[in-house]
Amino acid sequence: MSRFFLERYKDLKSYAPGEQPEDFSKFIKLNTNEMPYPPSQKVIKAIDDLQLLKLNLYPPVEFNNLKAKIAKFYDISRENIFLSNGSDEILSFIFLGFFRDGANVAFPDITYGFYNVYAQLYGSNADIIPLSSDFTINIKDYINIGKNIVIANPNAPTGICLSLSDVEKIVKGNQDNLVVIDEAYIDFGGESAVPLIKKYDNVLVVQTFSKSRSLAGARLGFAMGDRKLIDGLRKIKYSTNPYNVNRLTLTAGEASFDDDVYFNSCCKKISETREYLTKELENIGFLVLNSKANFIFAKPFNITANNLYLKLKEKGILIRYFEQERINDFVRISIGTKEDTDILLKEIRGII
Ligand SMILES: *Cc1c(COP(=O)(O)O)cnc(C)c1O
Repeated sequence: MSRFFLERYKDLKSYAPGEQPEDFSKFIKLNTNEMPYPPSQKVIKAIDDLQLLKLNLYPPVEFNNLKAKIAKFYDISRENIFLSNGSDEILSFIFLGFFRDGANVAFPDITYGFYNVYAQLYGSNADIIPLSSDFTINIKDYINIGKNIVIANPNAPTGICLSLSDVEKIVKGNQDNLVVIDEAYIDFGGESAVPLIKKYDNVLVVQTFSKSRSLAGARLGFAMGDRKLIDGLRKIKYSTNPYNVNRLTLTAGEASFDDDVYFNSCCKKISETREYLTKELENIGFLVLNSKANFIFAKPFNITANNLYLKLKEKGILIRYFEQERINDFVRISIGTKEDTDILLKEIRGII
């Protein structure tokens, strides 16, 4: 490491993304929870020459057109919405603006790896609360704890989802602290906490276009909450990178909200394929957690998780294995098309 790099970051363990081969035509990619389906035709048509011709100009900064569409979709108002370059950037802004320098923030031991990275980066005081032995969140661990809270719902990589009434209990039970609900996977079967933002000023709901809207490559995420929370996020954005969403991505995001039919049909196919894959793996003897996301978390039968990951990679199928205590006998498999899922099942049967 450079001698000029700050001492405080020397032990920072940064986030390890799943493998992203430059040429992924060689692989069936089931390792980073992307949609197997392309973006809507409306998105593809919207990015036309006219849009490209405007690339000499900076993009807008408030994104009012896209905010209006999201506001209509969720029956909230534009002032309650913040848009950003992927929801990872929003999470970073939240830790920077709300949880920095010794602020207390609680999250589960098994959850999205970035929370701990941001806690280290910004010097938050992280309280890491173990999930129950069945990998569920015990909501009693989060009520009236006098700390800020971040919960992914559905949780990653377990896929397990809290009910809206349980989320409300956590929000209601911590009204002097900020509760962040990361809903990256909510469209695959969970119930969103967005309605709570009208009742409580201490909840921020974070969502992304990367998973259910087939736009991981475009980088677009959004947060919804009380206007004052949104103003805090805007302040951080205008102090770091005001042009954080590019023109083509904005256009893609708007067009995606114009195609509910396609959005709903993709989400439905994913949840159907998830149920199919779950049943088939259970029949082989795998333990599969109850997922409401576009992935499953499973403990293989007759082979170690790490071996299954390696053997499938040899066969051209990428899945995710985490070398982390408590979950190193599980693999996470993103839900692909039905065809990819049948190939996966055939290879797994062959391997074990
Ligand atoms: C994928 C994911 C994100 C990041 O989404 P981007 O919008 O692509 O940055 C955030 N939170 C969780 C839990 C995720 O799985």
